[in-house]
Amino acid sequence: MTQAKPNPFLTLNYEIVMEELGDDYYDKVPAAEFPQHILRFRNDRLLPLLNLDRQSVSDRDFIEAFGQFQGVRPFLALRYHGYQFGQYNPYLGDGRGFLYGQVRAADGSIYDFGTKGSGRTPYSRTADGRLTLKGGVREVLAAEVLHQLGVKTSRCLSLIETGESLWRGDEPSPTRSSVMIRFSLSHIRFGTFERLHFIQRPDLIKKLLDYVIAHYYPTIPNCEEKYAKFYAELVERIAKLAAQWMAAGFCHGVLNTDNMSITGESFDYGPYAFIPNYNPQFTAAYFDYGGRYSYGNQPFMCKLNLEMLQQPLMAVISPRDLETGLAQFEDYYWQSYCQLMLKKLGFNKLPIENVSELIKVTIKLLRNNDIPYHGFFFELREGFNYGWREDSSTILENASFSNQVDENWRNLYHQALNKLPIEEMEEIGDRLRFHNPKTALLRPVIESVWEPIDRKDNWEPFYELLRKILAKE
Ligand code: AMP
Ligand code: MG
Repeated sequence: MTQAKPNPFLTLNYEIVMEELGDDYYDKVPAAEFPQHILRFRNDRLLPLLNLDRQSVSDRDFIEAFGQFQGVRPFLALRYHGYQFGQYNPYLGDGRGFLYGQVRAADGSIYDFGTKGSGRTPYSRTADGRLTLKGGVREVLAAEVLHQLGVKTSRCLSLIETGESLWRGDEPSPTRSSVMIRFSLSHIRFGTFERLHFIQRPDLIKKLLDYVIAHYYPTIPNCEEKYAKFYAELVERIAKLAAQWMAAGFCHGVLNTDNMSITGESFDYGPYAFIPNYNPQFTAAYFDYGGRYSYGNQPFMCKLNLEMLQQPLMAVISPRDLETGLAQFEDYYWQSYCQLMLKKLGFNKLPIENVSELIKVTIKLLRNNDIPYHGFFFELREGFNYGWREDSSTILENASFSNQVDENWRNLYHQALNKLPIEEMEEIGDRLRFHNPKTALLRPVIESVWEPIDRKDNWEPFYELLRKILAKE
């Protein structure tokens, strides 16, 4: 008789770095048992990072590890607090998830397998510890779209439907349940440090920071100034992340400090939305009455969260170094935003005075007219041709919003094209294709794949959408 092949997820080289930090940072928790396990999504594109491939991992392997939780190590519900809509909340923590394990990946980095929807923990308060299937579907889609757009983000490794009925105020209920595995560098949040400040444990702040720097900031040498260097780099990473969201037309929705990752990845974007039009006031979360976390406010909110993080970091970094670090935020943000928008317009480099002007005028055009944000860049990609270099009036002449494009914008774009040698025209076309996919994950698109799942358990439109996202169609 042949021996059954061991489950590759159970025999990965798990490292116990977070566990070794000690139980000041987490609680060991059990996983929930579910009545059903149906694998709805497996992210085969992540497998090579784990030195695995599609053939070596069966659906059953996913289910055993990430639905039935035949884990190899204790599961750790991480402790954290956070500022929610500006109010300090000391009653947070992993309320429906835990750290399943940490693995050194093929790229040399250590990654978390974090769960979402895996049962109640000491931090669940009155809630059920579950994730709705729709919530899982939404996060799978957003993570893949953001990743394809070049935004640093956590990904989903798997989504398993679990056969329970859940009640939610923001979804027609009862609604279906799921458990997701989130794959990211770390689940340590700004709020993880805020909690340690709240409980007055500067020693634990230092210990956690040493861990964060050693594992997620590998270019910082182990020296006296390493904490100040860490904060400066965190500011840079978060500023760049905010720029990536803005260029991608992404509104996170709830930028509380417990949803800010210490690694600078996008993270925990429950009520997110991609903007239909360029509107700084666009708000994703229905409960964000004041528009605090609106699309246009995101850079400001990221900076504010970095400023709040100074409180716990003062345990090891001088106020002067913190101030110096934060002062760079705007520069990093604007430089990065310009670079990303330039790429969406097809360019890599332009003389500096043209860049700011072209971008400002493009934003003005999008803001003052009824032009879809993603559609604008997609139609730029589709319509692009060498003739645009000769005659500015032909630029976007066949676009569905052509009559709204003003002469000023056309002239600037025309000038930009003419700043470059003709040989670069091909590269511009390539860049437009690469940075401006056809498929935009607008809310009606998500609803259009959710409805068949909800009504007829038909998953084909969901898989077809994923296929398009991955193919950058
Ligand atoms: P979030 O809004 O997902 O960032 O979560 C805010 C806090 O509420 C965190 O402490 C979560 O763990 C907790 N939480 C959210 N939803 C649930 C749930 N269904 N069950 C238990 N805890 C939850
Ligand atoms: Mg959260």
